Amino acid sequence: MKFPAERQRVVDVSRALADRGYFAATGGNLALRIDGEHIAVTPSATDYQTMEAADVCVLRLADLVKVDGERKPSVESGMHAQVLRARRDCHASVHTHQPAASACTLLGRPLLVDDPEHRRLLGPEVPLVGYAPSGTGWLSGKLGRALRPDVNAYLLRTHGAICCGTSLDATLLALVALESLALDQLRTRIAIRLAGERAPDTALQRLLDTIDAHPVQDVIA
Ligand SMILES: [Zn+2]
Repeated sequence: MKFPAERQRVVDVSRALADRGYFAATGGNLALRIDGEHIAVTPSATDYQTMEAADVCVLRLADLVKVDGERKPSVESGMHAQVLRARRDCHASVHTHQPAASACTLLGRPLLVDDPEHRRLLGPEVPLVGYAPSGTGWLSGKLGRALRPDVNAYLLRTHGAICCGTSLDATLLALVALESLALDQLRTRIAIRLAGERAPDTALQRLLDTIDAHPVQDVIA
């Protein structure tokens, strides 16, 4: 088996993300850069608790041809390849269905990042990539056009999130920071909604101010 250490690392991290609820059932997938030519990618539709290193696919980054692995690669391999081709500084790309960030994809706007530690991990904002069906070239193309050198986290409209980083550990930190940011955003919106029920005029104005600051539209059409 080629690259056993990297493939075992993909197994271990996938299990940890499944345990944490970031990979729901078989949803969620990741890619790890092995060297200048190859990436290790989670297999398609596999139970992460029973997955083994031999199931993890080794693909050529340039054309996604499989060079090793027992199973079919994730349908989102093209999306991860977009990230790892465009961001040569990044060694991992992780797509999740983590709860709070996934809920924020329904709000139809990017997330601004104020906290300095979150900015270091995520960038100045988390863009919202417009909707396209999972596993399609349409979705990876939209993500490809949204990628920025200073942004490590992206929301996929009505779907989930994708983060990248200089290592798998840095990418996991970005996922956790994104979930915290998304939770704060949801708490704020709930508070505004509750305040609106008590004092409709002022709360409505605050909500409108928020909407004015972040227009309800996809960053990527
Ligand atoms: Zn997904």
